[in-house]
Amino acid sequence: MISKIFRAVIMGPPGSGKGTISTRIVKDFNMKHLSSGDLLRSQILNKTTAGQLAKGYIDHGKLVPDNVMVDLILNELQNMKSHSWLLDGFPRTVTQAGALLKNEPIDLVVNLNVPFEVIIDRIKGRWTHAPSGRIYHTEFNPPKVQGKDDVTGEDLIQRDDDKPETVRKRLETYQNNTQPVLQYFRDHGLLEEFTGRYSNEIWPKVHSFLSTKTEPLQYTHYGE
Ligand code: ATP
Ligand code: MG
Repeated sequence: MISKIFRAVIMGPPGSGKGTISTRIVKDFNMKHLSSGDLLRSQILNKTTAGQLAKGYIDHGKLVPDNVMVDLILNELQNMKSHSWLLDGFPRTVTQAGALLKNEPIDLVVNLNVPFEVIIDRIKGRWTHAPSGRIYHTEFNPPKVQGKDDVTGEDLIQRDDDKPETVRKRLETYQNNTQPVLQYFRDHGLLEEFTGRYSNEIWPKVHSFLSTKTEPLQYTHYGE
């Protein structure tokens, strides 16, 4: 059944292309995008009570406490009642997931299932020109001269957090934290998994599935 207002959550490991897919979903299906990370950063900038509370946790690489996070997100969703939305970065715990389902009629949870080996391979090939932030990829976007920046000719480096061992650790942490949340949504019959190696491979699947649930804005071409 096509419902007028559509409420969805998107989940996926770092490097899964969640940002790319989220942007395409909200554009094609006319949804508002609520990212918990962006919301927290704006709360911190505006020095709100929640922002000041959250900052200490974020700076220490810890999760913001559930009660703070739940209040913040539910309050924000109140202002989006008449609109379809896509929630990104929340929930991160089963407690948060429970509070969300209790308060909002969730239609769908999208999980991007990109094999870890693929993510590691993808990030492994990434090289950065540190002074400018320009990014290359040995396979998908190679520099004109191997190991050198196209513009300045200077050396490219591999960032510490792009090294395979670091990436593997981040993925394991994500996996351990997220598994129970995915299972919770699966138990509630809300989880839909999309598997693929690249965003352009996953996106058509997400688009056609969502089209059976809610109206796309217009016909879109793929792979542009
Ligand atoms: P990504 O690589 O997906 O951007 P990230 O770790 O940068 O991951 P953000 O979503 O940008 O995550 O959030 C930044 C920080 O804000 C997190 O590290 C965490 O401290 C906090 N945070 C965001 N969402 C939540 C949440 N749902 N519950 C608790 N803390 C959160
Ligand atoms: Mg981030």
